[in-house]
Amino acid sequence: MKPSIYGLTREQLIAWAIDNGAKKFRATQIWDWLYKKRVQSFDEMTNIAKDFIAKLDDCFVINPLQQRLVQEAKDGTVKYLFELPDGMLVETVLMRQKYGLSVCVTTQVGCNIGCTFCASGLIKKQRDLTAGEITAQIMLVQKYFDERGLDERVSHVVVMGIGEPFDNYDNVINFIKTINDDNGLAIGARHITVSTSGLANKIREFAETGLQINLAISLHAPNNEVRTSIMRINRSFPLEKLFEAIDYYIKTTNRRVTFEYIMLSGINDRPQHARELVALLRDKKKLVYVNLIPYNPVSEHDQYTRSSKEDVLAFYDILKKGGINCVIRQEHGTDIDAACGQLRSKTMKNDAETASFDEKIKNDMYTQVIS
Ligand code: SAH
Ligand code: SF4
Repeated sequence: MKPSIYGLTREQLIAWAIDNGAKKFRATQIWDWLYKKRVQSFDEMTNIAKDFIAKLDDCFVINPLQQRLVQEAKDGTVKYLFELPDGMLVETVLMRQKYGLSVCVTTQVGCNIGCTFCASGLIKKQRDLTAGEITAQIMLVQKYFDERGLDERVSHVVVMGIGEPFDNYDNVINFIKTINDDNGLAIGARHITVSTSGLANKIREFAETGLQINLAISLHAPNNEVRTSIMRINRSFPLEKLFEAIDYYIKTTNRRVTFEYIMLSGINDRPQHARELVALLRDKKKLVYVNLIPYNPVSEHDQYTRSSKEDVLAFYDILKKGGINCVIRQEHGTDIDAACGQLRSKTMKNDAETASFDEKIKNDMYTQVIS
């Protein structure tokens, strides 16, 4: 199977071109065709010599994904089901925000972290996505808009789909460098957010990359007891270790950190938990902010339910009074299960026909099957 050329950063493409007897500017031209003109085949690169096109064709494909299904929700959120070259299936979500188009990408088929509230973790990791397969998700969403003649650009990216990005670290970093590149899609670093369940060693490594992108930590609990009960990863990286890494990240990058906190009724949403959270974050008030996230119920995890509005507001008030920056996250695409944490891995094609993706289709929703 040929790899996708989207998997090379610009530096890597330049190195590849030079290794193959071309000059640097040839790589720059190819990069331009890929990310500015967004061609779908090497043949369309009309200023590249035929023999070099043949070489590209021998070594790479452009787009490694096939679009299998698209669902559009009432609020404009679009969910895509993509097939990878080996038949596995992944989901990508586009959200329309006031500030632009934001895409949520998937980084692994399944997830080994196994948080007890999450739909993505129901399937053990089958494999990592390559950098090319992650970048291709952005390219296909952009194509969806290009083909409709809509002059809209993907301006924001969140790495919050299926998978633990820091368990596929190198591919995720290459993907970020590619979409951030000024000569290509040029998605600003401050418009890119990567979310991790808290792999402390990788948070340190990430701090040292110099990338100015946003880091979000899935915290979800203010103490080790509650966190371990819902997130197994807390056994390997308990709060003490996690916060050492976060402090190192803040010191090294001077950037703020976002904490994600799903509100689970009776589990982590009591006033006592809010007070513990204030105490945990007290020493870095100016440098953190907390996102309170409504829980999206997952039928396989029926021990969890969403916190009531009153409990969320009471929790929010305690954080605010404690001087912690805090927002209650707005939901997107709930009518098509496109909200964060609702994405499910689908390993084989057949699953696509049977899984919730199809079941949840509502009459008033635009649905298109592309084969
Ligand atoms: N693996 C990474 C990124 C993907 S999950 C991580 O855990 O951070 C993206 C976010 O969705 C995480 O904050 C995760 O905890 C949250 N999430 C998972 N299941 C959810 C659910 N059922 N409802 C709401 N959020 C959920
Ligand atoms: Fe994996 Fe993130 Fe889901 Fe946990 S919340 S199982 S880390 S995708």
